[in-house]
Amino acid sequence: MKKHLSILGATGSIGTQTIDILSSIDAEVVALTTNRNIKLLEQQARALHPKLCVAFDETAARDLKIALADTDITVMSGMDGLVAAATHPDCDTVVTAVVGMVGLLPTLAAVDAGKDIALANKETLVCAGGLVMEAARKKGVHILPVDSEHSAIFQCVQACQGNPLDKIILTASGGPFFGKTAEELRTVTREQALKHPNWSMGAKITTDSATMMNKGLELIEAMWLYDLPQEKIEIVVHRESIIHSLIEFADGAVLAQLGVPDMRLPIQYALTYPARVPCKVPRLSLAEVGKMTFYPPDDKAFPAMNLARQAASRKGNAGAVLNGANEAAVGLFLSDKLPFWRIPELVAQTMERIPFVNDPTLDDILTSDREAREAVLSLVGAE
Ligand code: NAD
Ligand code: MG
Repeated sequence: MKKHLSILGATGSIGTQTIDILSSIDAEVVALTTNRNIKLLEQQARALHPKLCVAFDETAARDLKIALADTDITVMSGMDGLVAAATHPDCDTVVTAVVGMVGLLPTLAAVDAGKDIALANKETLVCAGGLVMEAARKKGVHILPVDSEHSAIFQCVQACQGNPLDKIILTASGGPFFGKTAEELRTVTREQALKHPNWSMGAKITTDSATMMNKGLELIEAMWLYDLPQEKIEIVVHRESIIHSLIEFADGAVLAQLGVPDMRLPIQYALTYPARVPCKVPRLSLAEVGKMTFYPPDDKAFPAMNLARQAASRKGNAGAVLNGANEAAVGLFLSDKLPFWRIPELVAQTMERIPFVNDPTLDDILTSDREAREAVLSLVGAE
């Protein structure tokens, strides 16, 4: 069935790979958004002829309007622009490929407007999984996972025949610092953190992979998507990133989804589900892979995973606090204002500081996010 897409974060790693697979599927683009990469957005707009283009940044939006003056494309900016893209009447599916909790309001607006969501923006579920999943249930819309692990689980779930999942096994590459001790992590640099062994991704998620917070965020994402408590989600390090995740049934049978590490397959499946069509991604050759390795995760060197487990057990506003603190700390790290090892420490300190809210409203989530970011800045400034 033809899809009419709004791609939020079209100029990023997931956004550009989404556009790359459009030639393999039956789809039309209704809206494209960026933060401020208007050069690329203009190129994409000229190739894809959307109705609406959005630059979140006001100045960038002004320049984009001038650049697209010879077209009939509407140009907008800010949160109003993102929400307009997410709820455009001509769109049926929203690809949420923006980075960070800025994706929350547009995702909720899209669900409210009855759009299916191809969800890459995991921060949205980490912050407000309860609200988003409940809204999706009420509206009867699909939340289709793009994240490779969650897509793997989703693909395995097709074989459930109504049987419940007993367990999820999330695979983790281990990132660039696999095998390092907490002591050794005290001297790693931004450049080293940004060199991921298997995946080429945006700077924020690459940093999260290096701290293993990415796996923590994915654990919370899996908890909401598949309605399992965190104790039923195991993390295993699998260096080769060939097995994208696994599920286990009551009888102990384990199913896995395998493939070369390339996001275009999970992106494409989110857009063609339940159908499968040929994909540009190279085929897997197990003989070429040769061997696959598995290790328990190192919670001592990478405490972020346990912080996420705590947030997953507490629920309430804990995910928003964890995520807000992490986004702020990663932002500081990426602008060379914080050493790598302080990222999880600041998240832990922030989680202790912000009061717990049990059944948070959207306002509570937004407040907790703001308070967490402020707490990180004040903890760093206080030194
Ligand atoms: P990226 O940094 O490459 O791209 C982010 C996109 O969002 C860009 O288009 C950027 O212009 C836009 N953006 C950034 N800040 C914004 C703001 N404040 N307002 C509006 N737009 C803004 O990031 P990415 O690697 O493509 O990741 C996007 C999301 O997908 C993240 O949530 C990430 O965790 C998730 N994800 C990414 C991958 C991957 O392979 N890259 C895999 C799984 C999940
Ligand atoms: Mg992932």
